[in-house]
Amino acid sequence: MVSHRLTLDYDLHPGWLAPFVEGLVAGRAMARACTACARTSFPPQRTCDCGETSADWVALSGLAEVRFRTRGADGDFGLVAFEGADTLAVVALDGLSDGAKTGHILASGGPLARMAVGDLENRAAP
Ligand SMILES: [Zn+2]
Repeated sequence: MVSHRLTLDYDLHPGWLAPFVEGLVAGRAMARACTACARTSFPPQRTCDCGETSADWVALSGLAEVRFRTRGADGDFGLVAFEGADTLAVVALDGLSDGAKTGHILASGGPLARMAVGDLENRAAP
């Protein structure tokens, strides 16, 4: 095997997901509410399950109920239901206390957005 370092410089453009990505960076949960059936998806779905593509961006509280959690080599992850969303989301559990049933979305704190939930006291300032 030959090791070789490869450096790439590139810009990622979130396109229609910009409100979602900017929200994650700032610690806000921006969801899409379907204009036809009001189903709210987080992470946002481009096309609602009813087939509608028109939707409004809505800010959720950021509070998440942990439905399932697992621990892996890369950290803890959870299947969570964000308050106000009709969908479930897979998130990193960042410092969320063992046994905690709820957490709050965390700010990514950098240019790379990630979906993470932690203890309430670690949430971003509103
Ligand atoms: Zn719909």
